[in-house]
Amino acid sequence: MSVKDVLILTGGQEEHHYVARAVRDVLEEESGTEIRVEVREVGQGGIEGWLGWISGKLGKGKAKGETLGRWIRRAGIEVLGSSGWPQLRRLVALTLEETRPEVVVFFHPAVGMALQERVQDRSEAGFQRVGVVLEAEDLPGWDGVTADLLWVADEGSAKELREKNAKVKEVVAGGWPVRPTFEPAEERKKGAGKNREPFRILYLINSRRRKAIRTVEKILQFPDVEVTAVVGKEEELKGELRKAFPESQGKLEIHGWVKNLAGMIRAHDLVVTKPGTISVREVLATGRPTILVEGGKNSEKRKGICRLITRLGGGALAESPGEIGMRVGQALQGGGVGLREWGRRARQEAVRSLGATERLASRITQMAQAATETQRVPELRLMHHGHPGKKGLRMVDLHTHTIFSDGRLTLREIVDFYGRRGFDAMAVTDHLVDRRRLLGKLANLSGLVLTVDDLPDYFRALAEEKNRAWTKYRMILFPGLEFNHDGLTAKGSAHLLGVDLHDPIDPALSLKEICGQIRGQGGLTIAAHPHHMSSAGGQDTLYLWERQDEFRPLIDAWEIGNRDDLFNPVGLKRLPLIAGSDFHKPKHLTSWKTLLWCEKDPEAMKECIRRNKDVSITLYRDHRFGGESEEREEKRTAFERKG
Ligand code: ZN
Ligand code: ZN
Repeated sequence: MSVKDVLILTGGQEEHHYVARAVRDVLEEESGTEIRVEVREVGQGGIEGWLGWISGKLGKGKAKGETLGRWIRRAGIEVLGSSGWPQLRRLVALTLEETRPEVVVFFHPAVGMALQERVQDRSEAGFQRVGVVLEAEDLPGWDGVTADLLWVADEGSAKELREKNAKVKEVVAGGWPVRPTFEPAEERKKGAGKNREPFRILYLINSRRRKAIRTVEKILQFPDVEVTAVVGKEEELKGELRKAFPESQGKLEIHGWVKNLAGMIRAHDLVVTKPGTISVREVLATGRPTILVEGGKNSEKRKGICRLITRLGGGALAESPGEIGMRVGQALQGGGVGLREWGRRARQEAVRSLGATERLASRITQMAQAATETQRVPELRLMHHGHPGKKGLRMVDLHTHTIFSDGRLTLREIVDFYGRRGFDAMAVTDHLVDRRRLLGKLANLSGLVLTVDDLPDYFRALAEEKNRAWTKYRMILFPGLEFNHDGLTAKGSAHLLGVDLHDPIDPALSLKEICGQIRGQGGLTIAAHPHHMSSAGGQDTLYLWERQDEFRPLIDAWEIGNRDDLFNPVGLKRLPLIAGSDFHKPKHLTSWKTLLWCEKDPEAMKECIRRNKDVSITLYRDHRFGGESEEREEKRTAFERKG
């Protein structure tokens, strides 16, 4: 049996790491070498804050009818100047490309969106998705996430998601995954009468020192009580507590850091702590009641966990440290009637969560083992056109986009995609803009374009892939760029392709200067979609067409075909022509392409285009993308409606 890979994507929040580690440990322990687990942080760099911010706002600023994906993009752009989403989708894509997992586990709706992008359009990535919802009560954003399985803590949340989210195959109320050491404990047995054991209270201190000392004092005033105070890193507080209660020997124990927290919780009847998602879940998993101390700035998440405690009835809230004593008093009244009731409910909850991590891990294992080998595209080699040194028919596509700008595939993926299909040459032409010129309609793209600063990385990556494309597929890869000079109107806008470039070019230059620089590097200048587009959603760019006479000597070829569009006037004017797919995602393969009759050699191909002799175009169909896609159907209907 082959080894299966599970990828766990954490999103910068403490509880993500916690659950990721717990699940990984169980997976590795139970499945031995059959499953390989990789935990990756996608919340690093600038994205961490962005993901956190998104979490806090999810669903709240969403306009009516707006999809989650659209909202994430819009909100990200408005608030953070666009850096979050493009970074996230690139990171997720590259991580998937590197790890090729059978199952991906994720904790953040935005990560779910990035994964969704990877599986749309019958792209070649095949993996199962497991979303783990760690929110206690609100489920912001999860109603818009697509997944094979959503794992939530309780039945209430599961019900809500089943109603609101039709894109998930299965919602499981499986309990909150905690570290397996936090198992439910029995009620502490106490003798009666004189032998009665005291109530043991564990106080995990997180409030100010003076308040903490006063709280300990109040609790110690109750009869039959012992207190264990855990001060954590507050070493000085240790000394202060000893000084404040010199007489309380036997009734007060003081600790710094605690190694075996699970064991310590089990040895007590009641825990007093702050509302951290993890700590509360751990206490609940041991079946011990809790008093949560609110106060200060509590995030939405913390408020959620506070409400959870009162809803379950496994403890109570103290609205400030000053209230702790009063709450303890209530619990201990009448020989601890209240405390016993809390305990009963907390244990119910604990039993429900018992083994949650193991159950989640075993579902993931099942899914990984059921995964068949990723669908392989047959080595098509439809176009094996003879010896590279001799003239032959060469299928080329000189207009494609990758994840470096707004395309879906990584550079490596796009090379494999075209290489497997036997293309003789392709150019990657990601969008380059002058930041200072970013205008209205382009704002949506911002972050999904290259800027001058990205160019060294971009050319380095292309140089590497160029070698691989030739060695593996005998395919020529031309490094290129699409210069987006967008104005406010169609007539003020131009898209210019530069093909076979080696050095950065400043996009702030004029179009004429850019043409000069492209040619100076031995590259081709190509006018992209130079005339009115018929397809819905196409933005006309007519600047070069309007100034044909000026630009004719500077442009090597004009696109007569761009994806589904065909521009008759290019033919009528007898301009040198070429056609390309303007590829952004796999289904764009079905589109206009160029056929050259020449040697399989970069210089020969460029010369063929410059002379524009032995150049023809063809409408390419792929057996995997032959059917009418939804988008295409939409466009056709829109077109028919237009008349
Ligand atoms: Zn364009
Ligand atoms: Zn383009």
